[in-house]
Amino acid sequence: MNHVPEAGWVAYLADEIPETLKIEYENHLYSCDKCLSAYMEAMEKEEASLDMEGMDIAGPVMNSINRLKGESGEEATQKRKEKSLRTIARHYLIAAGFTILLMAGGVFQTLTEYVDSVESSSAVETQSVTDGLIEKTFNWMDSIEKKNKEGFRNE
Ligand SMILES: [Zn+2]
Repeated sequence: MNHVPEAGWVAYLADEIPETLKIEYENHLYSCDKCLSAYMEAMEKEEASLDMEGMDIAGPVMNSINRLKGESGEEATQKRKEKSLRTIARHYLIAAGFTILLMAGGVFQTLTEYVDSVESSSAVETQSVTDGLIEKTFNWMDSIEKKNKEGFRNE
């Protein structure tokens, strides 16, 4: 897959792209540092804008606009809040998963180097332990992702 453009991350964060594309983006993140930092930047911007919303500057304005359009302002605010919460939950899960992966990678790399210096034949075994741990982490993230989706389906 090609690198994701910044506009792609903005759309991703705004929940404006199809689920299949989101999964593609997320999978790409796991293997691309460049896109990971672009994603983090976009997320920081998104958080800043959510803070603005929390100060309720945009809220009343949006409500009057929606009222003019005939849509219940309160309903629209509620929808936006749910969407924000879901987006935030998703981002923190991804961040948590990365932290674990990075920690696991670092710890096991150090261990591998240590084992290498003592006895080089043990390195193969350590490698498979690392693979197993990464697989477990992915399975764990998958199950959380599923739970997360089920939880939000009752909207
Ligand atoms: Zn990339």
